[in-house]
Amino acid sequence: MNFPVFDFHCDTALALLGEDLNQAGSLRRNQFHIDLERASKLGGYAQCFACFTTPMMEQWHNLSPIVLFERELATIQREIEKNRDLISIAYSPKEIRKNQNAGKMSAILTLEGTAGFGHDPELLEDLYAIGFRIVSLGWNEKNILTGSHMTGGGLTDQGRAFVSEAQRLGIIVDVSHLSDEGFWDIMDMTQAPVIASHSNSRAICDVSRNITDDMFKAICATGGVVGFNQYTKFVGEKADLDKACDHLLHFVELDPDAKHIALGGDLDGCDELVDGFDGLQSYPLLAQKLLDRGLTERMIMNIFWNNALGVMERCCM
Ligand SMILES: [Zn+2]
Repeated sequence: MNFPVFDFHCDTALALLGEDLNQAGSLRRNQFHIDLERASKLGGYAQCFACFTTPMMEQWHNLSPIVLFERELATIQREIEKNRDLISIAYSPKEIRKNQNAGKMSAILTLEGTAGFGHDPELLEDLYAIGFRIVSLGWNEKNILTGSHMTGGGLTDQGRAFVSEAQRLGIIVDVSHLSDEGFWDIMDMTQAPVIASHSNSRAICDVSRNITDDMFKAICATGGVVGFNQYTKFVGEKADLDKACDHLLHFVELDPDAKHIALGGDLDGCDELVDGFDGLQSYPLLAQKLLDRGLTERMIMNIFWNNALGVMERCCM
């Protein structure tokens, strides 16, 4: 079976901007982890394209995160428009279904980090109008909304206001990169399903970017999902497809019908992918491995497509 793929996180916008962050690579065909020619061979495709920003951009590239945010957004919008025969920006889960039925791919706009718009909850309404449907509170830095998995520290009052405003609008809150304190602060106040768009199991690979079993159960209880990340650092020693399956099967032990597990490859956002996984064209190999390890087609369909669409249906109408 050629499963459709719904992936919650990639940094392809940044990859297309190139080394100097001012180029114009092609989404249709490129040497990165994701392009549309390869995606069109899958049984369907919906991709969340992140606009990633951090205050670190000033130090790394002497570039303001606001300028970077604008360039990433412009790149995604231009590339989707240029390839409108294959893909379009989806503003609702209904549009993703419609595109899928018409043999077309879907792009969903997401935010990784809030530095690109000054962490301002009042701007969320404008971002929603542009099409953003998933947002995280920060990246690896501590900011005025929250601490990160690297700094520790929970949500501030402005962080709480940010979560409330996002959920009021129907934007999904993403907890990947957050501190554990920040995670539990969100769990205490959430009024909607919450996702970890690109995080793995800390029981299998003990790093702060991954989530504990209790965190996974808490996400399940909100009706949310966790997207599996292909970055070797978050998969663990001897990171191959079998090790990737170890994470997914561990989540299945906690979620026997596989209703809260999804994909969030971190493609084009990490330098080293799982051995045997070279880009989105490798998703069928992961599916085959999961079949070999005893998952049913129904469960894989949930992980690869249904669960991501389901959480969007519960959050963004
Ligand atoms: Zn990330």
